[in-house]
Amino acid sequence: MNFLEEKILSDGNIKQGNILKIDNFLNHQIDIDIMRQIAYELKRRFRGVEVNKILTIEASGIAIATMLGHVYDVPIVFAKKSETANSTDNKYMSQAYSFTHKKMNNVFVSKPYLHATDKVLIVDDFLADGQAMHALIDLVNQAGGEVVGIGIAVEKGQQKGGAMLREEGYHLESIAIIDEMNWETQEIKFRNNG
Ligand code: 5GP
Repeated sequence: MNFLEEKILSDGNIKQGNILKIDNFLNHQIDIDIMRQIAYELKRRFRGVEVNKILTIEASGIAIATMLGHVYDVPIVFAKKSETANSTDNKYMSQAYSFTHKKMNNVFVSKPYLHATDKVLIVDDFLADGQAMHALIDLVNQAGGEVVGIGIAVEKGQQKGGAMLREEGYHLESIAIIDEMNWETQEIKFRNNG
């Protein structure tokens, strides 16, 4: 079992509706040592891949992205969410349905922060149905940049996002992949990975 799987088992809390709460080290309080280990593990898994920008989405992806930006010594950009679709010429805009908040979000990045020359490693805390990830990929494509990899802390393997992204040919690395979790027994089964 790797460090993140162990941390999830010791500190995670499964909620009804297929939600894993890891508020005490990632989604509310942030454990810097775990963030550092996530960043170094992603860097190890993407060895040989040229990266000149890290992209994530607010809010929880920012902690992982910041640590990874430090490890790669490249800028990080986070897509912002907005309720209104007030599209302007200086933004790349996309849309993502939020699994946790059950609503559609507009997501955007201002044009000066994504370029055709960017080799982007996209990172996020969770991968579930892949909605947030597809919106981020769309933003990079609009800018003419290249998605060189997708790094995830926790993939919920029972949901379709991971399978879709792998099928689409993306280099996806998830440090912990949950194949089953049960809110009544609090049991979690991880996939053998990495
Ligand atoms: P997706 O867009 O892949 O369906 O969902 C990914 C996004 O939803 C992530 O950015 C994450 O913030 C949130 N999310 C999805 N599932 C969970 C979960 O079980 N726990 C937490 N804390 N966030 C989740």
